[in-house]
Amino acid sequence: MLNKLINILGDENVFENEPMSMHTTFRIGGPARYFAIVNSEEDLIKTIKLVREENQEYFVLGNGSNILVSDKGFDGVVLQLSGEFDTIHLSGNNIIAGSGLLLSQVAKMALDNSLAGLEFASGIPGTIGGAIVMNAGAYGSEMKDVVKAVRILWLEPDEPTIETLTLDDLKLSYRHSILKERKGIVLDVKLTLKPGSKEEIKSIMDDLAAKRREKQPLEYPSAGSTFKRPEGYFAAKLIEDAGLKGYKVGTAMVSDKHAGFVVNTGGAKATEVKQVMEHVVHTVNQSTGITLEPEVILLGEF
Ligand SMILES: Cc1cc2nc3c(=O)[nH]c(=O)nc-3n(C[C@H](O)[C@H](O)[C@H](O)COP(=O)(O)OP(=O)(O)OC[C@H]3O[C@@H](n4cnc5c(N)ncnc54)[C@H](O)[C@@H]3O)c2cc1C
Repeated sequence: MLNKLINILGDENVFENEPMSMHTTFRIGGPARYFAIVNSEEDLIKTIKLVREENQEYFVLGNGSNILVSDKGFDGVVLQLSGEFDTIHLSGNNIIAGSGLLLSQVAKMALDNSLAGLEFASGIPGTIGGAIVMNAGAYGSEMKDVVKAVRILWLEPDEPTIETLTLDDLKLSYRHSILKERKGIVLDVKLTLKPGSKEEIKSIMDDLAAKRREKQPLEYPSAGSTFKRPEGYFAAKLIEDAGLKGYKVGTAMVSDKHAGFVVNTGGAKATEVKQVMEHVVHTVNQSTGITLEPEVILLGEF
């Protein structure tokens, strides 16, 4: 498998037993059996075909800001999109961004061109691809508000095929998209923004960044909000009211600054984070009858 991957991607782009703690904002995770940097659509299709022929598992990584990888790692191929997937174009009020770009880079392009609408996303530490999958959102806005179309490589049922989906087809709702229902890879994203004032856009971005610094435990590695917001409630409030701020297993802890975050206070294991999460779900359920659902995606064997 290793040599076949190298044949497609070049040996500078393929790594064996790559620690996933280097590729996640939690700074947690054992080794990926293979870690492959893919620089073009052509190579991506060839790699997917190979992975299938070899009956390997695969996982498309964005910026690793919403995942918890097992301490045992991932016995398959992790694909990271770069090169062609990091290109960005402006066309009128539209930005067409490759899926590997960070939201902060795309938001910067919007700001530089006085385009409004993406201010909410400037502080979300994910890629634009990951943001589509999750329908990432903050401060009352979400990707759904700015997405016009997304090019997707569908991976099932048969041969890989590329399709452009418009907003309605994407089924974007709270932390949900069609990519949660059907296996595919986001290739690029077309956003439609509105002409605005650069000063205003900058001031909103600065305000939101200040809010994040004030409210969120950005001094510790984490994956952001650990749980989804249950209809009609706030996960952080439920967790705080259940007395769980500061609850710890090993060095994984419910943040004492923002109860919605589980943080890695130094060398935490994935198993410790998982135990904290299970305790939170159990305790909140006992006290309120509400079952919190994880927003964070678990990868590998737990
Ligand atoms: C400090 C902090 C603050 C955060 N604040 C917010 C917030 O305000 N709002 C919010 O919504 N989220 C927030 N998050 C969570 C996270 O940043 C988002 O969910 C983000 O959209 C994940 O993007 P990613 O590129 O890191 O994806 P990853 O975590 O790498 O992956 C997430 C999922 O997307 C899939 N994926 C990634 N790229 C692709 C692709 N190109 N094609 C197909 N599948 C793909 C992965 O396979 C995985 O299933 C925060 C996280 C942190 C650490």
